[in-house]
Amino acid sequence: MFVSHVLAPVVSLGPGERIVVWTAGCSKRCAGCISPQWRSQSPDQDVDVDELAQMLLDTAREYGVHRLTVSGGDPLEQASELVKLLATIRCAYDDILVYTGFTFEELPQVIGADTWETLKSLIDVLIDGPYIDELNVPDCALRGSTNQRVIYLSDRPHDDYDQYLQQPRQLQNYVQDGTIITVGIADRYHHEFSAKEV
Ligand code: SF4
Repeated sequence: MFVSHVLAPVVSLGPGERIVVWTAGCSKRCAGCISPQWRSQSPDQDVDVDELAQMLLDTAREYGVHRLTVSGGDPLEQASELVKLLATIRCAYDDILVYTGFTFEELPQVIGADTWETLKSLIDVLIDGPYIDELNVPDCALRGSTNQRVIYLSDRPHDDYDQYLQQPRQLQNYVQDGTIITVGIADRYHHEFSAKEV
């Protein structure tokens, strides 16, 4: 599975303290793309799904982080690997949020009806649709643009999301390996995940 970055704890991409996995690779070309650095893939980003799953399980056990966000890139362009990952770690995570540039209606055809049915059973919240730069408005929490929908797929209560969506957008800065990393949904002309070497 091609993965560009993993970071925790993150509070700017969903309620509570979360671990975030950014997958690498997206074939779409949204104007003003919110994560252009993760559209391509390189061999050094190809990680073993079992090893990634074990790392997520260890994080949940050792640090008490039980919420996961999967962003990208587009995670749904690696649907089979995503199914394997989420099926392995689902037992340790109470809340799984996944972003995709496909619409909810497109997904059965794009990834196959059976894969989609399985994936739906593993995801709590899906944020769907391409990024549209003109629809990036500041009060659009959790989403890059207002066309994107927050879709509750599981039966768990989603009061935490309802409250989170009422709040302003958040950005977090991290320093990792000499690089400043900004995480969150930013206003127009900025990126969900931006990194600058210092
Ligand atoms: S779906 Fe996301 S990563 Fe892909 S081009 Fe659109 S904004 Fe960029």
